[in-house]
Amino acid sequence: MSRPKKAKAPEIKPLEVVKYGHPALRSKGKKVEKIDDSIRTLAEEMIVTMYEEDGCGLAAHQVGRSLQLAVIDVMPAFEDRPSRAWIDGRELEVESLMPLVMINPEIHPVGDEKLFETEGCLSMPGIYDEVERHARVRIVCQDIDGSLLDFEADGLLSRAAQHEVDHLHGILFIDHLPAEDRAAHQPILSKFQARSVGF
Ligand SMILES: [Zn+2]
Repeated sequence: MSRPKKAKAPEIKPLEVVKYGHPALRSKGKKVEKIDDSIRTLAEEMIVTMYEEDGCGLAAHQVGRSLQLAVIDVMPAFEDRPSRAWIDGRELEVESLMPLVMINPEIHPVGDEKLFETEGCLSMPGIYDEVERHARVRIVCQDIDGSLLDFEADGLLSRAAQHEVDHLHGILFIDHLPAEDRAAHQPILSKFQARSVGF
């Protein structure tokens, strides 16, 4: 008697990342009410997409889904842009949180320190600029199993979380720039916008 063949796990394929001008990028994401298989699959597809595109974070809006769901992995950039994380005041290995799936996340600043650092966005390839963000934040969200995750972070993890949670509210990093700096990026933005017509 032959052993029954093990069902092969379906291959997770990357999704298309929508660009500036797509209406999903300006929408407020709906709360994820139930973490079911469709949400788990979407999160896995977003993680694969983030790695494929060499990003350190991706919001559901960027794959055309307006939901309170984002993924982050800061490890590929860790040497150049490190992070620290704490749970209940105790520091933990950032790697143990990665890849991070944030469902229905909330961000609270910790302290008053703010920092300017360079950001880019997979929905606006080629545009980079210095953005002011809180240095350290508390992140409260559900993970992929629905468990509550409540931790503090600084460095790139803090920055990426603020960038991604902005996406979930229809905010892009260029919105934080002074008008004249935003205007300097307008030629590239207009090209993305022209290609997005018809959505
Ligand atoms: Zn982005």
